[in-house]
Amino acid sequence: MTKPESWKHSGISKSEAVEMLEAAVNMPGVIPRDLGRAWRMVEGGIWGMCKECHKEIPGARLKILPTATRCVSCGRKAETAIQKRPGFVPGRAYPSAMPRFR
Ligand SMILES: [Zn+2]
Repeated sequence: MTKPESWKHSGISKSEAVEMLEAAVNMPGVIPRDLGRAWRMVEGGIWGMCKECHKEIPGARLKILPTATRCVSCGRKAETAIQKRPGFVPGRAYPSAMPRFR
């Protein structure tokens, strides 16, 4: 049994996904850690799948943000949660980029 590539729904092929991630290396605001995770998802065949609800992330979203690991609604929920955290820095979308203030 072959595992289907999860992002086939988006109309994006694996080689296109690789190209998008290569281009994302030079994109402002892309965090190397997110990029590394996206690479592993491509390799694992789960790129384009929301890590929260396991639904497909629309191709249009992936084209804008190839490192997206959440769908729009889960992403919004996560962002709201991040913005409520103490020490939140506007303009930084991901908590992984934030230093821990202790
Ligand atoms: Zn989701």
